[in-house]
Amino acid sequence: MGHEQHNAAVAKAFPELVSLFDIGDSWKKSKGLGGHDIQALCITKRQAGDCQLNATGKKPKFILHAQIHAREVATGELAYRWIDLLVNSYGKDADITALVDSRELWVVPMANPDGVDIVASNPSKPVLQRKNANNTSDCGLGSTGVDLNRNSSFQWDPNEGGPCDETNPGAGPASEPETLAIEGLVNRITRDTKGDVNDPATADTRALFITLHSYGNDILAPWGYTNNPAPNRAALVALGKKMSAFNGYPVTTGDGGVGYFAPGATDDWAYGTRGLPAYTFEVGPGSGACAGFLPPYTCMDSTFWPKNKGAFIYAAKAAANPYGALPGS
Ligand SMILES: [Zn+2]
Repeated sequence: MGHEQHNAAVAKAFPELVSLFDIGDSWKKSKGLGGHDIQALCITKRQAGDCQLNATGKKPKFILHAQIHAREVATGELAYRWIDLLVNSYGKDADITALVDSRELWVVPMANPDGVDIVASNPSKPVLQRKNANNTSDCGLGSTGVDLNRNSSFQWDPNEGGPCDETNPGAGPASEPETLAIEGLVNRITRDTKGDVNDPATADTRALFITLHSYGNDILAPWGYTNNPAPNRAALVALGKKMSAFNGYPVTTGDGGVGYFAPGATDDWAYGTRGLPAYTFEVGPGSGACAGFLPPYTCMDSTFWPKNKGAFIYAAKAAANPYGALPGS
Protein backbone atom coordinates (compact mmCIF):
# COMPACT_ATOMS: atom_id res chain seq x y z
CA MET A 1 0.00 0.00 0.00
CA GLY A 2 1.38 3.38 -0.93
CA HIS A 3 1.69 5.97 1.76
CA GLU A 4 -1.25 8.04 0.49
CA GLN A 5 -3.48 4.96 0.58
CA HIS A 6 -2.38 4.14 4.12
CA ASN A 7 -3.05 7.71 5.27
CA ALA A 8 -6.49 7.72 3.65
CA ALA A 9 -7.35 4.34 5.17
CA VAL A 10 -6.41 5.48 8.68
CA ALA A 11 -8.40 8.71 8.31
CA LYS A 12 -11.44 6.78 7.05
CA ALA A 13 -11.26 4.13 9.78
CA PHE A 14 -10.81 6.64 12.63
CA PRO A 15 -12.67 9.79 11.55
CA GLU A 16 -13.09 11.05 15.12
CA LEU A 17 -9.32 10.84 15.72
CA VAL A 18 -7.54 11.59 12.43
CA SER A 19 -7.45 14.74 10.31
CA LEU A 20 -5.54 14.41 7.03
CA PHE A 21 -3.95 17.43 5.35
CA ASP A 22 -2.26 18.14 2.04
CA ILE A 23 0.51 20.53 3.10
CA GLY A 24 2.21 21.05 -0.25
CA ASP A 25 3.72 19.41 -3.29
CA SER A 26 6.78 17.35 -4.02
CA TRP A 27 9.21 18.78 -6.57
CA LYS A 28 7.84 16.62 -9.40
CA LYS A 29 4.27 17.57 -8.63
CA SER A 30 5.23 21.26 -8.55
CA LYS A 31 6.58 20.83 -12.09
CA GLY A 32 3.59 18.87 -13.41
CA LEU A 33 5.68 15.70 -13.70
CA GLY A 34 3.56 13.41 -11.57
CA GLY A 35 4.90 13.35 -8.04
CA HIS A 36 2.96 13.60 -4.80
CA ASP A 37 1.27 15.77 -2.25
CA ILE A 38 3.12 16.04 1.02
CA GLN A 39 0.65 14.79 3.61
CA ALA A 40 0.32 15.41 7.33
CA LEU A 41 -1.93 13.65 9.83
CA CYS A 42 -3.16 15.28 13.01
CA ILE A 43 -4.29 12.74 15.58
CA THR A 44 -6.37 13.71 18.60
CA LYS A 45 -9.78 13.01 20.11
CA ARG A 46 -11.12 15.96 18.23
CA GLN A 47 -12.88 18.79 20.06
CA ALA A 48 -13.90 22.14 18.61
CA GLY A 49 -10.77 24.03 17.54
CA ASP A 50 -8.47 21.00 17.46
CA CYS A 51 -6.28 20.13 14.47
CA GLN A 52 -6.95 23.33 12.61
CA LEU A 53 -4.15 24.83 10.58
CA ASN A 54 -3.61 27.57 13.13
CA ALA A 55 -1.78 28.14 16.38
CA THR A 56 -4.80 28.82 18.56
CA GLY A 57 -5.67 25.22 19.45
CA LYS A 58 -5.60 24.51 23.18
CA LYS A 59 -3.73 21.21 23.09
CA PRO A 60 0.10 21.00 23.09
CA LYS A 61 1.53 19.71 19.83
CA PHE A 62 4.05 16.96 19.14
CA ILE A 63 5.25 16.89 15.54
CA LEU A 64 7.00 13.79 14.16
CA HIS A 65 8.68 14.19 10.75
CA ALA A 66 10.08 11.21 8.82
CA GLN A 67 11.82 10.04 5.67
CA ILE A 68 13.05 13.45 4.52
CA HIS A 69 16.04 11.37 3.38
CA ALA A 70 14.40 8.83 1.11
CA ARG A 71 16.80 5.92 1.61
CA GLU A 72 16.44 6.05 5.41
CA VAL A 73 13.62 3.58 5.16
CA ALA A 74 13.31 2.72 8.85
CA THR A 75 12.18 6.29 9.57
CA GLY A 76 8.93 6.17 7.59
CA GLU A 77 8.19 2.76 9.06
CA LEU A 78 8.61 4.17 12.58
CA ALA A 79 6.20 7.01 11.76
CA TYR A 80 3.57 4.48 10.65
CA ARG A 81 4.13 2.38 13.77
CA TRP A 82 3.46 5.56 15.78
CA ILE A 83 0.31 6.43 13.82
CA ASP A 84 -1.02 2.89 14.13
CA LEU A 85 -0.23 2.74 17.85
CA LEU A 86 -2.16 5.96 18.53
CA VAL A 87 -5.32 4.99 16.65
CA ASN A 88 -5.38 1.30 17.57
CA SER A 89 -4.67 1.82 21.28
CA TYR A 90 -7.13 4.66 21.80
CA GLY A 91 -9.74 3.54 24.32
CA LYS A 92 -7.72 0.43 25.15
CA ASP A 93 -4.44 1.66 26.64
CA ALA A 94 -4.83 4.30 29.37
CA ASP A 95 -1.54 6.07 28.63
CA ILE A 96 -2.18 6.36 24.87
CA THR A 97 -5.81 7.34 25.42
CA ALA A 98 -4.75 10.17 27.72
CA LEU A 99 -2.24 11.39 25.14
CA VAL A 100 -4.71 11.29 22.26
CA ASP A 101 -7.26 13.13 24.42
CA SER A 102 -4.86 15.89 25.46
CA ARG A 103 -2.38 16.45 22.61
CA GLU A 104 -2.37 17.22 18.91
CA LEU A 105 -0.10 14.48 17.53
CA TRP A 106 1.07 15.63 14.11
CA VAL A 107 2.91 13.25 11.80
CA VAL A 108 4.52 13.86 8.41
CA PRO A 109 5.40 10.23 7.67
CA MET A 110 6.96 10.79 4.26
CA ALA A 111 8.56 14.20 3.79
CA ASN A 112 10.30 13.28 0.50
CA PRO A 113 7.94 11.05 -1.50
CA ASP A 114 9.61 11.64 -4.88
CA GLY A 115 12.86 10.39 -3.40
CA VAL A 116 11.08 7.33 -2.02
CA ASP A 117 9.85 6.55 -5.55
CA ILE A 118 13.47 6.68 -6.76
CA VAL A 119 14.54 4.26 -4.00
CA ALA A 120 11.90 1.82 -5.27
CA SER A 121 12.55 2.46 -8.97
CA ASN A 122 14.87 -0.51 -9.42
CA PRO A 123 12.89 -3.61 -8.43
CA SER A 124 15.98 -5.77 -8.02
CA LYS A 125 18.04 -3.40 -5.85
CA PRO A 126 16.92 -0.29 -3.90
CA VAL A 127 18.49 2.94 -5.16
CA LEU A 128 20.24 4.75 -2.29
CA GLN A 129 18.57 8.09 -3.03
CA ARG A 130 18.90 10.64 -0.21
CA LYS A 131 17.75 13.86 -1.89
CA ASN A 132 14.59 14.99 -3.67
CA ALA A 133 14.00 14.58 -7.43
CA ASN A 134 15.03 18.09 -8.54
CA ASN A 135 16.95 17.38 -11.75
CA THR A 136 18.18 20.91 -12.47
CA SER A 137 21.61 19.24 -12.48
CA ASP A 138 21.58 15.66 -13.77
CA CYS A 139 24.02 13.72 -11.61
CA GLY A 140 22.76 10.25 -12.50
CA LEU A 141 20.46 7.81 -10.74
CA GLY A 142 20.73 8.09 -6.95
CA SER A 143 22.87 11.24 -7.00
CA THR A 144 20.56 13.85 -8.54
CA GLY A 145 18.58 16.23 -6.35
CA VAL A 146 18.64 18.69 -3.48
CA ASP A 147 19.31 17.68 0.12
CA LEU A 148 16.13 18.74 1.89
CA ASN A 149 17.96 18.59 5.22
CA ARG A 150 20.30 21.40 4.09
CA ASN A 151 17.62 23.47 2.36
CA SER A 152 15.78 25.14 5.26
CA SER A 153 15.41 28.88 5.53
CA PHE A 154 17.51 29.00 8.74
CA GLN A 155 21.33 29.19 8.45
CA TRP A 156 21.22 27.98 4.83
CA ASP A 157 24.80 27.67 3.59
CA PRO A 158 25.64 27.70 -0.14
CA ASN A 159 28.98 26.06 0.64
CA GLU A 160 27.44 22.84 1.93
CA GLY A 161 27.92 21.08 -1.38
CA GLY A 162 27.82 21.18 -5.14
CA PRO A 163 24.86 20.06 -7.24
CA CYS A 164 25.94 16.41 -7.26
CA ASP A 165 26.96 16.22 -3.61
CA GLU A 166 24.74 14.41 -1.10
CA THR A 167 24.51 17.69 0.84
CA ASN A 168 23.59 19.90 -2.14
CA PRO A 169 21.70 22.68 -0.33
CA GLY A 170 19.80 23.83 -3.43
CA ALA A 171 19.56 27.17 -5.16
CA GLY A 172 18.62 29.11 -2.04
CA PRO A 173 16.95 28.94 1.36
CA ALA A 174 13.73 26.89 1.13
CA SER A 175 14.07 26.67 -2.66
CA GLU A 176 12.35 23.25 -2.68
CA PRO A 177 8.59 22.72 -2.38
CA GLU A 178 9.09 19.93 0.17
CA THR A 179 10.89 22.43 2.43
CA LEU A 180 8.10 24.96 2.00
CA ALA A 181 5.57 22.27 2.93
CA ILE A 182 7.07 21.42 6.32
CA GLU A 183 8.01 25.02 7.15
CA GLY A 184 4.54 26.17 6.14
CA LEU A 185 2.86 23.57 8.33
CA VAL A 186 4.96 24.33 11.40
CA ASN A 187 4.60 28.08 10.88
CA ARG A 188 0.82 27.72 10.83
CA ILE A 189 0.32 25.37 13.77
CA THR A 190 2.84 26.73 16.29
CA ARG A 191 3.28 30.06 18.03
CA ASP A 192 6.68 31.65 17.53
CA THR A 193 8.21 31.75 21.01
CA LYS A 194 11.72 32.77 19.97
CA GLY A 195 13.15 36.08 18.82
CA ASP A 196 16.63 36.52 17.37
CA VAL A 197 19.09 33.69 16.92
CA ASN A 198 20.66 34.42 20.32
CA ASP A 199 17.37 34.82 22.20
CA PRO A 200 16.06 31.87 24.20
CA ALA A 201 12.67 30.38 23.47
CA THR A 202 10.20 31.38 26.14
CA ALA A 203 8.86 29.14 28.90
CA ASP A 204 5.34 29.16 27.44
CA THR A 205 6.36 27.04 24.41
CA ARG A 206 3.81 24.22 24.03
CA ALA A 207 5.18 22.04 21.25
CA LEU A 208 8.02 19.64 20.44
CA PHE A 209 9.51 18.52 17.12
CA ILE A 210 11.38 15.33 16.21
CA THR A 211 12.78 14.58 12.75
CA LEU A 212 13.82 10.98 12.07
CA HIS A 213 16.98 9.99 10.23
CA SER A 214 19.25 6.96 9.92
CA TYR A 215 21.67 5.93 11.25
CA GLY A 216 24.13 6.07 14.19
CA ASN A 217 21.98 5.82 17.35
CA ASP A 218 22.11 9.52 18.20
CA ILE A 219 19.83 12.19 19.58
CA LEU A 220 21.03 15.48 18.08
CA ALA A 221 19.89 18.65 19.83
CA PRO A 222 20.37 22.26 18.58
CA TRP A 223 22.46 23.71 17.39
CA GLY A 224 23.56 21.49 14.55
CA TYR A 225 25.14 24.25 12.49
CA THR A 226 27.65 25.45 15.07
CA ASN A 227 29.32 24.49 18.33
CA ASN A 228 28.14 27.76 19.89
CA PRO A 229 25.64 26.83 22.59
CA ALA A 230 21.98 27.25 21.73
CA PRO A 231 20.31 29.76 24.08
CA ASN A 232 18.21 26.97 25.63
CA ARG A 233 20.95 24.36 25.44
CA ALA A 234 20.73 23.16 29.05
CA ALA A 235 16.97 22.59 28.79
CA LEU A 236 17.26 21.03 25.33
CA VAL A 237 19.88 18.56 26.52
CA ALA A 238 17.94 17.78 29.70
CA LEU A 239 14.84 16.90 27.67
CA GLY A 240 16.96 14.95 25.21
CA LYS A 241 18.35 12.86 28.06
CA LYS A 242 14.83 12.03 29.21
CA MET A 243 14.10 10.62 25.75
CA SER A 244 17.48 8.91 25.75
CA ALA A 245 16.38 6.98 28.83
CA PHE A 246 14.07 5.09 26.45
CA ASN A 247 16.10 4.61 23.29
CA GLY A 248 19.61 4.67 24.76
CA TYR A 249 20.91 7.10 22.14
CA PRO A 250 23.38 9.63 23.57
CA VAL A 251 22.45 13.32 23.29
CA THR A 252 24.91 15.59 21.50
CA THR A 253 25.02 19.10 20.06
CA GLY A 254 27.07 20.75 17.33
CA ASP A 255 29.41 18.34 15.58
CA GLY A 256 30.10 16.50 18.83
CA GLY A 257 28.18 13.35 18.05
CA VAL A 258 28.26 12.98 14.30
CA GLY A 259 31.48 14.75 13.35
CA TYR A 260 29.92 17.28 10.96
CA PHE A 261 27.76 20.38 11.02
CA ALA A 262 24.37 20.52 9.33
CA PRO A 263 23.51 24.13 8.40
CA GLY A 264 20.06 24.45 6.87
CA ALA A 265 18.71 21.36 8.66
CA THR A 266 15.09 20.97 9.75
CA ASP A 267 15.76 20.69 13.48
CA ASP A 268 17.74 23.93 13.74
CA TRP A 269 15.03 25.65 11.68
CA ALA A 270 12.24 24.48 14.02
CA TYR A 271 14.12 25.64 17.09
CA GLY A 272 15.81 28.67 15.59
CA THR A 273 12.76 30.23 13.99
CA ARG A 274 9.82 28.91 16.07
CA GLY A 275 11.38 28.13 19.44
CA LEU A 276 10.38 24.46 19.38
CA PRO A 277 12.60 22.02 21.19
CA ALA A 278 13.71 20.11 18.11
CA TYR A 279 15.68 16.89 17.81
CA THR A 280 17.10 14.63 15.16
CA PHE A 281 16.99 10.93 16.02
CA GLU A 282 19.54 8.93 14.04
CA VAL A 283 17.85 5.52 14.14
CA GLY A 284 19.95 2.38 14.00
CA PRO A 285 23.45 1.44 15.04
CA GLY A 286 26.62 2.47 13.25
CA SER A 287 27.68 -1.13 12.76
CA GLY A 288 26.28 -4.62 13.04
CA ALA A 289 23.30 -6.43 11.58
CA CYS A 290 20.84 -3.52 12.00
CA ALA A 291 23.18 -0.81 10.64
CA GLY A 292 22.84 0.98 7.34
CA PHE A 293 20.10 2.54 5.26
CA LEU A 294 18.38 -0.75 4.42
CA PRO A 295 18.40 -2.79 7.63
CA PRO A 296 16.61 -6.15 7.72
CA TYR A 297 12.94 -5.65 8.52
CA THR A 298 13.34 -7.72 11.69
CA CYS A 299 15.37 -4.84 13.20
CA MET A 300 12.13 -2.84 13.40
CA ASP A 301 10.57 -5.35 15.78
CA SER A 302 13.74 -6.28 17.64
CA THR A 303 15.08 -2.80 18.41
CA PHE A 304 13.99 0.28 16.43
CA TRP A 305 10.34 0.35 17.48
CA PRO A 306 10.72 -0.95 21.04
CA LYS A 307 13.53 1.56 21.68
CA ASN A 308 11.79 4.59 20.18
CA LYS A 309 8.14 4.01 21.09
CA GLY A 310 8.73 5.12 24.68
CA ALA A 311 10.77 8.11 23.53
CA PHE A 312 7.91 9.29 21.29
CA ILE A 313 5.35 8.86 24.09
CA TYR A 314 7.63 10.80 26.42
CA ALA A 315 8.09 13.55 23.82
CA ALA A 316 4.33 13.89 23.39
CA LYS A 317 3.89 14.24 27.14
CA ALA A 318 6.75 16.74 27.43
CA ALA A 319 5.26 18.95 24.69
CA ALA A 320 2.99 20.48 27.37
CA ASN A 321 5.91 22.29 29.05
CA PRO A 322 9.18 21.33 27.37
CA TYR A 323 11.30 24.07 28.92
CA GLY A 324 9.76 23.69 32.36
CA ALA A 325 9.15 20.87 34.77
CA LEU A 326 9.49 17.66 32.76
CA PRO A 327 7.24 14.65 33.29
CA GLY A 328 8.67 11.64 35.06
CA SER A 329 9.35 8.53 33.08
ZN1 LIG B 1 19.17 11.56 7.06
